[in-house]
Amino acid sequence: MRKPIIAGNWKMYKLLADAVDTALALKPLVANATHCEVVIAPVFTALKTVADRLEGSNIGVASQDCATQNSFGALTGEVAPAMLKDVGCKYAIIGHSERRQLFGETDGSVNLKTKAALEAGLKAIVCVGESLAERESGNAENIVGGQLSAGLSGLTLDEMNRIIIAYEPVWAIGTGKTATPAQAQEMHSHIRSLVGKDHGNDVAASVRILYGGSVKPENIGELMSQPDVDGALVGGASLDADSFAKIVNYK
Ligand code: PEP
Repeated sequence: MRKPIIAGNWKMYKLLADAVDTALALKPLVANATHCEVVIAPVFTALKTVADRLEGSNIGVASQDCATQNSFGALTGEVAPAMLKDVGCKYAIIGHSERRQLFGETDGSVNLKTKAALEAGLKAIVCVGESLAERESGNAENIVGGQLSAGLSGLTLDEMNRIIIAYEPVWAIGTGKTATPAQAQEMHSHIRSLVGKDHGNDVAASVRILYGGSVKPENIGELMSQPDVDGALVGGASLDADSFAKIVNYK
């Protein structure tokens, strides 16, 4: 039985006071959500304060990215996964399509970041997804498969147990276009079978695969009814506590 995860990616939104206000507003709204893990990913500068204010609650905190290594060094602007763990993070989002498209993230750096996050004791939410052109040319499964096998290459069984995969078709992120539940299911099932080939059937059966791309209170129920959809990574609709709580409380 895979426990669903509903994660909110706040991207580069919210000053500290707003981040704390949203987190505190969310806390009572999701306090009874025992059916899923609830995660929010504020900007780096808000992580510690938000994590401190949520201590003892059922909301975990994620970073939106991390460095490729835990050993400290002359890496201006980078934040080591160990530093994120140190301020209260439990998860790190890695390889989000905005990082891939705008900041030169590659499958290779995703793999290094994933290993570093796991080494620090974080759970890694590894994002994969195809562009519109890749889908229209019939290449979606190959592209996602390539991202997946490279991003998760060399992980041990124990490490794979702390991996969460987020399938986020790029054409559905922030566009208002959601993959249909059938499209999401088809790709999630493909991802699960690829994980089975690379890492074994036990891992494939237990790994959580989240869907991301214009998830809203109105469409979460249908997405979650798909057998291989184990939760959601939510952008825009996670910025407001009421709307995110409605997604968390989809049941
Ligand atoms: C995201 O940022 O991961 C995302 C899926 O965004 P949105 O829900 O706004 O499409």
